[in-house]
Formats: sequence, C-alpha cells, structure tokens
Amino acid sequence: MSVSRIIRLPPLPSIRDLIKLYKLRAMKELSQNFLMEPRLISRIVRSAGSIKDCEVCEVGPGPGNITRSIIQNMPSRVLIIEKDKRFTPSLELLAESSPVPLELIFGDVMNFNLEKMFNEDNKMEWEDKCPQIHLIGNLPFNVSTPLIIRWLKAISERKSAWRYGRVRMTLTFQKEVAERMAAPIMTRERSRLSVMCQNWCRVEHKFNIPGRAFIPKPNVDVGVVRLTPLKKPIIDLPFDIIEKVVRSVFNFRQKHCIRGVETLFPKPVREQLASELLTTAVIEPSTRPFQLTVSEFGRISEAYMTICKEKPDYMKYNYRGQKSDDNWPFVEINNTDSSENI
Ligand code: SAM
Repeated sequence: MSVSRIIRLPPLPSIRDLIKLYKLRAMKELSQNFLMEPRLISRIVRSAGSIKDCEVCEVGPGPGNITRSIIQNMPSRVLIIEKDKRFTPSLELLAESSPVPLELIFGDVMNFNLEKMFNEDNKMEWEDKCPQIHLIGNLPFNVSTPLIIRWLKAISERKSAWRYGRVRMTLTFQKEVAERMAAPIMTRERSRLSVMCQNWCRVEHKFNIPGRAFIPKPNVDVGVVRLTPLKKPIIDLPFDIIEKVVRSVFNFRQKHCIRGVETLFPKPVREQLASELLTTAVIEPSTRPFQLTVSEFGRISEAYMTICKEKPDYMKYNYRGQKSDDNWPFVEINNTDSSENI
C-alpha cells in the first residue's frame, strides 16, 4: 500500500481570501510581499530537503502561505516567529486546523534567541549529521541580510539554534545577494558576503523567483538559498577578527589586495606592516580581493593576529571610524556594524 507523504489540511479559506477578509494590506514599512504561487511556495519548502518528523522554525510567516506547505510535509512541530500582529487571526486559524503542533510567537526575529526553542532530544554533536531542525523563511531583504550575519556569528559560537548542532537554513534574499553569498573566486559577484558565508556554511543558491510572483511586486527578483553549517570552518578564528580582515581587504575590491590590507593599520605603519603581513601569509600583494580563496583569507587573518599579539592596540584600529590617523591610538574608536554594506 502506498502511503501519502503529504498531509491534507482541512478546508481553509485561501490565502488570497484571508488577505481580503482581514484587510491584510502589505505594509511597505515591513517590506511585505506575499508569495501567491503554490508551485513556488512548495519549491521553497522542498529546497530545505526532507522536513518530515523535523522541528521547523519559520521566520516571517505573514498570512501563513509557506507555513501551510511546511505543515503538509509532516514535520513533528512548527514554530513561527512573526512581527506583525495583524496576521494573528489567519495564523490562529491555521494553528487550530493543523494536524501538527503549531506555535505562534509574535516578535522581532532580530532579537530572538533560539537557544531553548527546540526539543533537547533533537540535539546532535556538531561533527555528527545535521539535527532534525530547520529554519525556513521568506523575510524582507532589509532583515534577511543582517540576520544571516547575526546567524553566522551564532554558528561560529555554536549558540542560539546552533546549540542543537548544524541546523540548516533555507532563506530568501534579493537575487543579487543570493548570488554574492554563493559566488566562487574570480567572479564579479565575489564579495565580503561570499567569504563570510562560505567560511562557516555550504551555500547552495537553489533557484530564483521572479518579482512578479509576489503581491505587491517588488522591484527585484528573489533568490532561495540553503545554508548548511560546515563541520569545521575553513578559518577557525573568532568571528570578529575574520569579519574585520575580510571587510578591510574588500575596502578596495578592484585594487590590489595590499591596499585593503593596509587599512588594517594606522597610517604611520600602514605600508610596512601590510607588506610584512602579506609576506608572512605568502600572498602576492597584487592579487585582487575577488581572487582570494577563503583559506587565503585565513592566512591573512593568522598573520594579522600574529602582528596584533605583539602590538594589541592595532586590533582596536578601525579605518572607517578613525577621524585622524596622526594621533592614533589616542582617538576614540568607533565600531561599525558588521552587517553594513556587506
Ligand atoms: N511568508 C510570507 C510569504 O512568503 O508570502 C510573507 C513574506 S513577507 C516578504 C515577510 C514577512 O516577514 C512579513 O509577514 C513581515 O511582517 C515579517 N517580518 C518582517 N520583519 C520581521 C522581523 N524582524 N521579525 C519577524 N518577522 C518579520
């Protein structure tokens, strides 16, 4: 006897009707764009891999269109985090009719710690296979990029959801951002985000969704990306050091990498230390940032740390935050947000 692998939900009003019924006009401030095409919705969920018997946390469910598809794939439990309370009736309706436990949390995913959210029985050792836990979301672009940076940091520290092991993520981004996340060396798209994502995760740019599939239609297309944390990061150093080195090197994307490396140091010692650093790292100074592999960024980071061990003040130096280099290190240091302009 063949067993159906898709759960049928009891008859529910269509998402289109719910949006009309509760006057869920998409709010521009929250960059809300609803995906209406069932085929694309189920393709996003399928991109996560099998979620059967898994715990799934969906971020930004909106009226619940992706949530319905998640439920149909028979997870053991669904947790949804939504910022906009206007979706309460439609999500509650879904929770009542869902054959699998569906828990609603209203809040901002940016401030949300997933440390205690999942079943302890699903916890796996980091080096073991990925746990039966998935994060899925079609978030606004202004949230998804800073969120992935925050989550990469949590992955590097094995905190939040990654206390449970190598939890996989399937998320949407602006198509160009998705391309940068997955970009290999030597390509036009190679950027800070490529190095940061690929240092901690296997990045798969699964497919694109044209803007016209959303209501209202955004001006850009959307890329669906699956990220699987690596058993061992390519550069096994603290997140903030790697972030600073990668950001500095990409300060001058089209120039020789030595120009960016120089910005790690204050003006009086800049040229000498950048040259010393690249000699230690065995990197040709005329290499361009987009030609550097993640391992080469690792050697640059190691060499930077060696120099900073001798002179810890260099670690505090911040090129963009520096008002004047002449009296460094006596000026105040401004720390820039690591998610900016990535
Ligand atoms: N999942 C629905 C879909 O695919 O049609 C809605 C997607 S809409 C692009 C993004 C959703 O994320 C909205 O429901 C919005 O209210 C929610 N959202 C925006 N910022 C959020 C945040 N910081 N935390 C949680 N949810 C957020």
